[in-house]
Amino acid sequence: MQRLEGKVAVITGGNSGIGLASACLFAEQGAQVIITARRQEILDEAVRQIGHGAIGIQGDVASLEHHADVAEQVRERFGALDIYMANAGIVTPTPSQQVTPEAFDAQFNINTRGVFFGVQAITPVLRDGASVILTNSLAATKVFEGHAVYAGSKAAIAAFARNWALELRMRRIRVNVLSPGPVDTAIIGKMGVSEDQRPGFMKMLADMIPAGRVGEANELAQAALYLASSDSSFVNGIELLVDGGMSLV
Ligand code: NAD
Repeated sequence: MQRLEGKVAVITGGNSGIGLASACLFAEQGAQVIITARRQEILDEAVRQIGHGAIGIQGDVASLEHHADVAEQVRERFGALDIYMANAGIVTPTPSQQVTPEAFDAQFNINTRGVFFGVQAITPVLRDGASVILTNSLAATKVFEGHAVYAGSKAAIAAFARNWALELRMRRIRVNVLSPGPVDTAIIGKMGVSEDQRPGFMKMLADMIPAGRVGEANELAQAALYLASSDSSFVNGIELLVDGGMSLV
């Protein structure tokens, strides 16, 4: 039996990295998957890759209109939603003295405000007993060079989850946090690490992780599947660290 048979799932930023790996796995496990992304052509390519009747909704998680559109389309096409994974995120490492208000706002608008208003908009469409997964980061609790704004923008996520787990308890909606350590995705390049620098950067990270390597997107997808499915039916309000033990050192 597939673990998400008959379930409808939305994954924001589902066109790349952890979101795409989760979308592929959820679809393989029987879910009707809906992904969101900013650019239509990238969205179309990801929808093709996921297969299994996946659909894409184009938009920016920093936009409240986009969240209203997602909620409306889910209601119209599927009636209700079983799994909402607020996964889209950006990181722009910069020493605090050099952070511009624009860079600050961009990270908070996507990583924090985007998650808050995404969940606010989708909550009326969630089926009773639904699972909400918020993608956080180990950086919310562990210090990394130049990550103050990113860490601040992610630190709110676990607090949101704990509050929502209580606010939504009468509808048996579970809200959990998935917190990755370093994972080999496109976000590494977006941080400004060039292809030439990448092997050295990955080795530097691997040396800081008890597992001796960085994570793979699919390993995060497996953890997301656990939180999405009834395998975690008594798990609520937690932060699941998937970091190869990096938080220990
Ligand atoms: P990624 O860059 O491959 O994926 C990020 C996704 O977010 C992309 O699909 C991107 O299009 C989307 N996105 C960004 N801004 C958006 C916006 N304004 N509107 C809609 N979509 C937007 O990186 P990833 O590693 O898969 O990151 C996924 C999540 O995991 C992020 O929240 C990230 O902060 C978090 N995370 C990643 C790592 C890591 O090392 N890869 C570690 C900790 C946390």
